[in-house]
Amino acid sequence: MRLSQFYLPVMKETPADAQIASHRLMLRAGMIRQAGAGIYSWLPLGFRVLKKIEQIVREEQNRAGAVEMLMPTIQQAELWRESGRYDAYGKEMLRIEDRGGREMLFGPTNEEMITEILRAGAKSYKDLPKLLYHIQWKFRDEVRPRFGVMRGREFLMKDAYSFDLDEAAARRSYNKMFTAYLRTFARMGLKAIPMRADTGPIGGDLSHEFIILADTGESAVFCDRQLIELSVPGKDTDFNDDLQPIVDRFTSLYAATDEMHDADEFETSVSEQNRISARGIEVGHIFFFGEKYSEPMKAVVAGNDGKDIPLQMGSYGVGVSRLVGGVIEAFHDEQGCKWPMAVAPYHVGLINLKAGDAATDAACAKIYRELEDAGVEVLYDDTSARAGEKFARMDLIGLPYQIVIGPRGIKSGEAEFKRRADGDRSEVAIDSVAAHVAGLVEEALRYD
Ligand code: ATP
Ligand code: MG
Repeated sequence: MRLSQFYLPVMKETPADAQIASHRLMLRAGMIRQAGAGIYSWLPLGFRVLKKIEQIVREEQNRAGAVEMLMPTIQQAELWRESGRYDAYGKEMLRIEDRGGREMLFGPTNEEMITEILRAGAKSYKDLPKLLYHIQWKFRDEVRPRFGVMRGREFLMKDAYSFDLDEAAARRSYNKMFTAYLRTFARMGLKAIPMRADTGPIGGDLSHEFIILADTGESAVFCDRQLIELSVPGKDTDFNDDLQPIVDRFTSLYAATDEMHDADEFETSVSEQNRISARGIEVGHIFFFGEKYSEPMKAVVAGNDGKDIPLQMGSYGVGVSRLVGGVIEAFHDEQGCKWPMAVAPYHVGLINLKAGDAATDAACAKIYRELEDAGVEVLYDDTSARAGEKFARMDLIGLPYQIVIGPRGIKSGEAEFKRRADGDRSEVAIDSVAAHVAGLVEEALRYD
């Protein structure tokens, strides 16, 4: 992509009302534009990151055996009356009336809708288990939308739902999502720690929030340092195997959010130097809730003996749009974002220091073409801006690699190559820089 054709409205000043780094940087780097309280447009650069995160989530859901579908954003109040949540949900639900006076709502989540879908289509015990998901916009009229996309009112969520015949089978579905989440966040370069979370009136041990540690996080969390070092299951993991040992490995070490924290247990089960008491960002939440919806909504299948079996359900959310901010919180410096390759809006920034000069233009055009041919995503700064502005802008948007071509380099036959993560610079022959960088990108995109 040529920057001259792109739309990248970067801001020089730090937006006054943005309190945390990711919010500031997303505004400054022209990734988002606020449309209303907690509502954002995704500008081209931000949109690319959102789509990359979404795609990683999708690939890992698919790998775990979940099946993608799509439910609407607008739902009927009637459905929510069946579960009793139309009144219970309160002011966070955005309620709408259509022209016929029918009560509608903008979905904050989809348990009711998916339960109705299974109720209509799954008739026999032979139709289960089922694990379905979609990636769809939600609306929650949050009391205090803040921190940009971290706590929006309109936000993109992956929500999966499992349907099983009994609790043992439901646990197997739960374990699939637990394992998929470990892999999902690791692929984005994040260390997300599964932490015991509140299960409400249902009880049991099947609720975990996946939390990334960050000073700007909204949750107070407590965990064992050893969790940070645990290695995540590889891509050869067979999701039809027994995944309980994986789940046990991660849940045997102490990790709990504020609401579930037990100070005595924390002190007795974690050695002092391993005790982390910190703040964190909730990027995912998995939850088994049994018959909470299937019972009031009468979602049953016929058992082997012809008797009705109520569906045992769980739901599994990932905050896709929140993750864009979460990744920035984990990877940035004063100058801007430092994207991990897997979610970077482009892999490489190519800077032409003297656009309009025949020799630098020709060299850049050739490198640009070679990179694109090699499947590398390049943002080519072919604009007439001054060098200082180009450098600052490229650092701000934080593409992992930069290639800089100027008249001096043309003379010596060298391009400057810079790694954004640590600022390391080196000279690479202009003739081979594209192949060199393409190799590095390919390597950085490889994952287990
Ligand atoms: P929170 O405790 O942060 O309000 P929640 O527990 O209400 O979140 P869930 O219903 O578990 O959220 O939703 C699943 C995921 O969706 C969360 O783990 C989070 O990553 C994301 N999410 C929830 N609310 C928001 C929001 N207002 N803005 C952006 N992402 C959100
Ligand atoms: Mg939650």
